[in-house]
Amino acid sequence: MLVAIAGGVGAARMLAALSSVTDPAGITAVVNTGDDTVLHGLHVSPDLDTVVYTLAGQINPETGWGRVGETWGAMADLRAYGGDRLAWFNLGDHDLGTHMFRTSRLAEGATLSQVTAEIAARWGLRVTVLPMSDDRVETRVTVEEGGASVELGFQEYFVGRRHSVPVLAVTPRGVTAEPGRRAAAAAPGVLDAIGQADGVIICPSNPILSIGPVLATGGIGDAVARRRDATVAVSPIIAGRALKGPADTILADLGHEASVVGVARMWAPYAATLLVDTADAGRAGEVEAAGMRCVVAPTIMSGPQEAAGLGRTVLDALEAAGAGPRR
Ligand code: GDP
Ligand code: CA
Repeated sequence: MLVAIAGGVGAARMLAALSSVTDPAGITAVVNTGDDTVLHGLHVSPDLDTVVYTLAGQINPETGWGRVGETWGAMADLRAYGGDRLAWFNLGDHDLGTHMFRTSRLAEGATLSQVTAEIAARWGLRVTVLPMSDDRVETRVTVEEGGASVELGFQEYFVGRRHSVPVLAVTPRGVTAEPGRRAAAAAPGVLDAIGQADGVIICPSNPILSIGPVLATGGIGDAVARRRDATVAVSPIIAGRALKGPADTILADLGHEASVVGVARMWAPYAATLLVDTADAGRAGEVEAAGMRCVVAPTIMSGPQEAAGLGRTVLDALEAAGAGPRR
């Protein structure tokens, strides 16, 4: 069995890639829920939905989020009533069905893990999709705005500010105990899956916004660190840039190097191997100096063939570490 530590788009592509080269029934994804938010009373889990929709072949390929063939009737009406103040976060009609289902089942007392399994079952997914936690973890982003520091909810930062403001801090609220609230626990099955996995993959997701909150939750980081030799990370940073989104600028804002070397310094405690793109071949020595074995290969999943190629590279890297899936 393989366990993938996952955010949204980068992870969803990695999971689809792995599913195309190894039995998806042998893959468990542990997905970030720090981006979850409540909008119009509905519980929205962006990363879980991106992973499920992608594996179901339902993702909008242009945006990388939301449903293919989506319609926007509800949003148009909301905007007509209340303008952008209420309609700042786009929720498509089909997507809304997912959020309504999740919200209803949570209100009936189901856990987020149970609801996620139900959503995955509707789409016939063979990959096991687990939220990192059934407890609320809320990634807060402190930004610099108008010369002052302002703490924002994740989506206020990411969608509301189009992730274009300097970031001063990223804090996954809920991972430590607070007065009246215990620390978030890993969701059922997460720690066992990591402990028993043949291999663990840290997906090419945003290290600070997506993977960081997962590793910070309920002992998940410690569990991965104990499997360090069997863990392969794939860099989301290629030639100093994120393919999409703010991974590069946030690394720099928070004092990390926005490069595969910066990624290696972050993941060295958790993973023995870092897979970097051929564009970064020249930095392999520095990755090794940061304490990780460096594997250089094409890592851009621009189409199914490229994705399968990366999937095979990951399996090979796991096998080289004595951690491949039993074939
Ligand atoms: P989000 O939660 O949907 O914003 O997405 P993630 O955190 O999972 O992933 C965002 C990161 O995925 C970005 O930093 C991208 O550079 C990375 N990414 C997306 N597609 C690819 C790809 O094909 N290859 C690699 N190496 N990284 C990718
Ligand atoms: Ca996300």
